[in-house]
Order: sequence, then C-alpha cells, then structure tokens
Amino acid sequence: MGSHQAEVEADKLKVIFLPFLSTSHIIPIVDIGRLFAMHGVDVTIITTPVAASIFQNSIDRDTNRGHSIRTHIIKFPASQVGLPEGVETFNADTPPGMIAKISQGLSMLKEEMEQLFEDLEADCIVTDMFYPWTADAAAKLGIPRLLFLGGSYLAHSAQHSVKNYMPHKEIGLDTEKFNLPGLPHKLEMTPLQLPDWLRAPTGYTYLMEMIRDSEKKSYGSLFDSFYELEGTYQEHYKKATGTKSWSLGPVFLWVNQDASDKAGRGNGKVEQEDKVQGWLEWLNFKPDNSVLYVSFGSMSKFPSSQLVEIAQALEESGHDFIWVIKKKDEGEEVSFLDEFEKRVKASNKGYLIWGWAPQLLILENKAIGGLVTHCGWNTIIESVNAGFPMATWPLFAEQFFNEKLVTDVLKIGVAVGAKEWRNWNDFGKEVVKKEEIGKAVALLMSSGEGADMRRRVRELSHAAKRAVQVGGSSQTNMLELVQELKELRLQRVNRKVTAIP
Ligand code: UDP
Repeated sequence: MGSHQAEVEADKLKVIFLPFLSTSHIIPIVDIGRLFAMHGVDVTIITTPVAASIFQNSIDRDTNRGHSIRTHIIKFPASQVGLPEGVETFNADTPPGMIAKISQGLSMLKEEMEQLFEDLEADCIVTDMFYPWTADAAAKLGIPRLLFLGGSYLAHSAQHSVKNYMPHKEIGLDTEKFNLPGLPHKLEMTPLQLPDWLRAPTGYTYLMEMIRDSEKKSYGSLFDSFYELEGTYQEHYKKATGTKSWSLGPVFLWVNQDASDKAGRGNGKVEQEDKVQGWLEWLNFKPDNSVLYVSFGSMSKFPSSQLVEIAQALEESGHDFIWVIKKKDEGEEVSFLDEFEKRVKASNKGYLIWGWAPQLLILENKAIGGLVTHCGWNTIIESVNAGFPMATWPLFAEQFFNEKLVTDVLKIGVAVGAKEWRNWNDFGKEVVKKEEIGKAVALLMSSGEGADMRRRVRELSHAAKRAVQVGGSSQTNMLELVQELKELRLQRVNRKVTAIP
C-alpha cells in the first residue's frame, strides 16, 4: 500500500454494525451496512455464525466489488445456556422452549461485543433497536450510536401515540374502535389489534421503554423507508419524539443489484442461475399481473384450521397463485395440503413453495399481480417497490399499524379483516374465514378499486427508484449522514489531539 493510500485508509470512517438475531432484522440492517460500505465507509458487521451464514455470500461479493466490508464472527454460547449447537436465531422454526435461552445467550455476549467496539476502533456503531445497552457503550467511547428501527415511521408514531395518550383505556369493548390521537391522519383501531405490551404492561413493555430511553441517548435512528412513501410520518415522528432520524430506503434496492444478491438474500443459498427454478418456469407461462403471491414472512406459522381456510379461499378465488408455506413440523396433521398441492398442480392454478422463497426475484416477475401479506415492513417495502397492491393480513409486532399505512393512508391495499394481534410464536385464537380472504382477494385483483390501487402503488414504485438515485431523498439523506459522521469523527480526533499535554 502506498503512503497516500495508507493515509486514505486510516482516514476512513469506521462503522460497526450489530444486527439482532432474527432473519427479518438481519436482512435490512446488513443491507444498510452494505450501503455504508458502498459510500466509502469501512464496515464491520459483528455477528454469530448462524446469522452470518444468512448473508456472508453478499459480503463476499461486496468485497470482490472493492467495498471495505467484513464480518466479525463471535461464537454463540449455545452449550452454556443449554441449547444445541446451531440454535441461535429467532425464526418460524425456533422451538418455543428455546426462545428465552437464545435471549440469555445473546446477553452473555454483551461484554465481548462492547470490547470489540473499542478494539476495532469504531467511529460510530449502528445497532439493532434490541440492543439498548449499546447507547451507553457508545457514550463511554465518546462515539455516536445510531439505532436501526424496523417497521414504518407510521408504526413508530402510532406506538408513541398509544403510549402517551392511552386511547384504548377510554373504550369499553376490546372490539370497539378508537382513534390514534395526534397523528396526521384519522386512523382507527380496536384494542384487540394493539400489541399486548401496549394494551397493558408486560415484561416486553419494560424492554420497549429501555429501547425508547436508549433512542433518546443515541445520535439518531435509521429507517428502511423513503420520504415519498411516508414523509408526513417521518416528520411527525421526529417532532413527536424530539430525535434525529434518517430514511434510507428502499435499502435492498441499492445494494442487491444483481441476481445472485437477490437470490441469496435472507437464506444464504444462491439458487443456481443456470438451473431454471420451478416457480420461474411456472410463472413464465402466466399472463402479466395475473398471479397472487401469498406469503407471511419469516416468523409465522398457522394452525391447520387456518391453512384450510387459506387453501380453500385461494382455490375458490379463481386466480392463479404462489403460496409460500412454512415446512411442516414432525407429526403435524396437514395431509390435506398434500392433496391440495396435487390438485392445484394438476389444474395448473397454483404453485406451493415450502420453506423459503426467493421473494425479491419472484416480485420482479411481471406475472405477479398482487400480494397477500402479513404486513411485515420488509415485505411492504418490497411490494411497493415492485408496484403491487396488497391484501393485508397483519399478525404480530407492529404489523397492524403498517396495515393502516397501506390501506388507509396510501390506499394501495385492502384489509382481509384481521381482528386480533398475537405473538409471533403463538397461533392466537382468531381464524380468518375463507369468505373474508376471498372478498379481499377479489377486490385486490379487480378492474375497479383494484386497478386504482395498482395505479397508486405504481407511482410509489417509481418514487422508490428515484429516492435512491442521485439527488433522490434517500440518497441525499445517506450523503448527509455520512458527512455528519465524518465531522463528528474529526471533532473527536481534534479533541484528543488538543487534550495531549
Ligand atoms: N423472505 C423471503 N422469503 C421467504 C420469507 C421471507 O425472501 O420465504 C424475506 C422477505 O423478502 C423479507 C423478509 O424475508 O425481506 C421478511 O421480512 P418481513 O418484515 O416482511 O416479515 P417478518 O419475517 O419480520 O415477519
């Protein structure tokens, strides 16, 4: 390395990323890390082996592209907390009895992570919201901490509203509607649609309080959103919480430009490009905008009573569909699904993907016409970018709030009519009937209201692409953020220099 080059390298802004151990938190924060590296920042992602296996391929490709990015792997203390080797992430297959142990294992890594921030000489740390302790760790080192907040600005604004005004306390029935106070739009919900920890205090409420406190102590927050999508809520959130925040999305769009990046995203396995996948072959024979894509993200499973309703609704809808279903647990009675699969294969009406689907690639296909989604924020952003309207079926986390953005604010989706929030690892009591699913799907694919929604979402799809181009809203935010972090670094270095006697 020449001396000039060495100087440049030494001068690089060093940022450490710390993803949480669940797939849908890992995916966007790793993409943000890759985005920083694309902007000339030196990036290290600290994580455990199983989490790294989900995204290491993309990091290797970025390194080959000349970006300064790497993974720093720390061992997960599985045996110390009584877990089998390899169980260290939260997803749909995580056995319920192991969830608390994974959290315990993760908290045991705190000191090692904190030491790494210092040893790797970070100028800034970007950590998932689920690591509130990192705000103090950054303060000790005198460096800024940014937190990645998953979900929409609307969802976080709504949580803030419920916490401050407790509107659901004024309501007699759990199924009665109330307004979310103080928000830019009139948005109605019922107490049953609120996360349990917002309805009444639980252990999780305490964790969320810590997360909010840590946000106030941090330099600011990062969102995978873009101004043209929910700028009103971005402004509202910053004002209501008095915090700094940057929207950088859609982040996947910037950093997953080629087919290998798209194919491997979220499960680490790149589908063989020379082998045409079954789903692709199947889709290629379908007319444009004709196929429903039905998926409920990386965390949720349904009981067989609900699977029956979905299967019948899809079959009776008359539309072609791709349905992504989580693999069966051993001994589970879902033999009707095998029959269903044989039938829809024979009629050529449906294609089932068991386990993990290459969602980004599928959503690029012109044959897709709309989504049935659980309103996971990553999926909403991906669907908006692809220009597809949605039938919304929120289940857990902040998804009922995300639904409001899609159906009531942007009017690019229709609600299936889910009434009850549940935990991600819990089936809940509600079974949405096939008639309700059918009604939403019919409207979504219709030439009337469906076409209006499609027109609106297409405009947003164009806006998404503009947001990440030169001069676009997210691109401008990204440049300003990197510049600001560089200035903070300079101030810190100058302070050190002047402090030397
Ligand atoms: N995903 C995928 N294939 C699947 C399931 C999920 O590629 O079979 C990706 C999807 O594209 C999205 C993420 O995993 O980026 C799921 O995140 P989301 O916020 O939609 O839902 P969650 O998994 O948090 O419920």
